[in-house]
Amino acid sequence: MLMEWLKKCYSRLLIDNHITDLKADFMSRFDPAEYLRMVRLCGVDSSMIYACDHNGNCYYPTVVGHQHKSLNGRDIFGETVTLMRQHAIVPIAYYTVIYHNDSAKSHPAWRQHDVNGKTHDGRYHYSCPNNQEYLEFAKRQLSEIAVYDVAGFFIDMTFWPMVCQCDCCRAKYLAETGCALPQTINWNNPEWVKFQRARERWMAEFAAALTAHLKTIRPDAGVTHQFSPVLHGWFLGQSSGIALASDYASGDFYGDKYQHRLGAKIFSAYSRYQPYEFMTSRCVSLHDHTSTKSEDELYLHAGTTLANGGAYFFIDAINPDGTLNERIYQRLSKVISRLKPFKDCIQSHVPALWADCGLYFSMNSCVNDASNGMTLTEMTEGGANMDVRYNAVVEEVTGTAVVLNRMKQPYRAVTDLNDLTGLKTLIINNAAYMTPAEVERIRQFVRAGGTLIATGKTSLFDLNGNSTGDFQLADVFGVSFSGGVSGSISYLRTTGENDLISSARLSSPLVNATTAEVTGNVVEADFPIGDPDQYASIHSNPPGKITKFAGLTVNRYGKGVCVYLYSSLLKHQQDSQQQFGRELFARFIAPTVICAANLPGSAEITLLRSSTANVMLCCLVNYQDELPVIPVSDVQIVLQLPDNFKAEKMVRISDGSALPFTVSGTHLTFTLDKLNELEMIEIKGE
Ligand SMILES: [Zn+2]
Repeated sequence: MLMEWLKKCYSRLLIDNHITDLKADFMSRFDPAEYLRMVRLCGVDSSMIYACDHNGNCYYPTVVGHQHKSLNGRDIFGETVTLMRQHAIVPIAYYTVIYHNDSAKSHPAWRQHDVNGKTHDGRYHYSCPNNQEYLEFAKRQLSEIAVYDVAGFFIDMTFWPMVCQCDCCRAKYLAETGCALPQTINWNNPEWVKFQRARERWMAEFAAALTAHLKTIRPDAGVTHQFSPVLHGWFLGQSSGIALASDYASGDFYGDKYQHRLGAKIFSAYSRYQPYEFMTSRCVSLHDHTSTKSEDELYLHAGTTLANGGAYFFIDAINPDGTLNERIYQRLSKVISRLKPFKDCIQSHVPALWADCGLYFSMNSCVNDASNGMTLTEMTEGGANMDVRYNAVVEEVTGTAVVLNRMKQPYRAVTDLNDLTGLKTLIINNAAYMTPAEVERIRQFVRAGGTLIATGKTSLFDLNGNSTGDFQLADVFGVSFSGGVSGSISYLRTTGENDLISSARLSSPLVNATTAEVTGNVVEADFPIGDPDQYASIHSNPPGKITKFAGLTVNRYGKGVCVYLYSSLLKHQQDSQQQFGRELFARFIAPTVICAANLPGSAEITLLRSSTANVMLCCLVNYQDELPVIPVSDVQIVLQLPDNFKAEKMVRISDGSALPFTVSGTHLTFTLDKLNELEMIEIKGE
């Protein structure tokens, strides 16, 4: 069956291999048998094997490209794939595009270059996906790799490392639009936004062309593209089109546990087939070859992925001479052994996240208003996807996710590719750019009885940056955009306990209520923010005048309700704003976890629904900031399960024991006498 392996491999490994051939002994000691021994030692189900690295060095005898010189024609990729197959380890081929030094260095016409003439960032040299010759080259190399008996292909770096201004990009844009490439960033200007959409579309078309090419040769194999830029904003130029060109979502991340929790849910939402895979390096970062994460860190990374229904995936890096460090695999072996009961449980259910609370994630809206007016010559961004690259929208979504985590409210991510079936509540953070189809789906959701919590500029523009001057969802919000924005510091005055909530470093839309009830007004400072001469207080910009503009409103629409919040203040991960968020969500979100007594704020509860049985899984990840984790005792949980689900039996996965529970009405109550780092409860339905 097509990609049956995907559902059977929840434990995966990649051994990074970006070694140059500048010295004769580099890669000279690589031994496929030793590689296999390490893979078997740690006990993963699947291993990704390098066919071609960022240097453009192939590890098989390529005809169209450059083979790593030290191999002297030896096919270590093929030998390793064969050995993996012989020992039932599922082999996946790694191939890199764009970041491909050999092609860029040997073909000057293929190179990307930015407006300042830059063609590379340090060691990384880029070819342009809009160059047809380069595209054909990448296809020919993939044709060579597709001959091998791999189960799938991971294509790395399908994103823009710069705003390319090469001849191909200029000519293509001119042919498509009749326009030259715009040179000034302005997210309110359709000319700029339209260009960004072209960048996204071009990259998606490039990814789709490579996928289609592989599928013609290997229709049985899985294909995926690096999708970590989903969290990195507009610059890298990815879009939902990358998910559409992939069989499952995959990518590597280097942020904290909150980025991991959010990223996992976004991957789950974008993944055509479950499970998605979530990569974490065994080193503290890929820039550090030797500093290994602790056993507990690795365990919690993998546990977080499993608890969100994903396949965990470790990345190691090979030594320059081609050897591997056995101690690393011994450490991974311990981690993977501890994970085994949980991995086996998830693998048997192939579950997906279940929640009736949705958190909208609009890739199209991950822009940076603060850059408006900046020319491309002034921009200093680089191409890496291994940094934590925040933008205002990702920060706000992350802040919202943290509030939900701390409230123990399970949620799932929702994207422009998903429908809203099964949701009771939808939170949309500042999704400024929306298609008419997205807008209509959301309107229907509220009309039919859903609760919408929307912030900022949500739906102000269509995808190409055109606007009528008002929100596309103005009727649902019950407010109308005034055309003006607040100062970069403003305040929300409500009647609650937190009566003045600050929004710092944010210019927010100022709106007038039409049909909505106003429950909070915008308060501005007395003088312009940052004015050196006129100010109320020398250190800060205290609240001054109460404006007529609505800051927080509630609007009845159809059978549903819409809460509108003017600013992105939920991005501030500080107690004042988070307390406001908690109170707001407590008013409008029906809780799934009614009680989670004795569970620390840092812990997450997720619910998963099995695709193989009438089973729900309740997962708890006790991920504290300082490790090792302090176990907690007597954790009492009360869950509101789906309406049509009645619990018959519960099993604690850590030890396989039956777990007593009580049912009262629609509430399910159970107690864990002790919780270490990770627990899963299998809830079998009647
Ligand atoms: Zn280009």
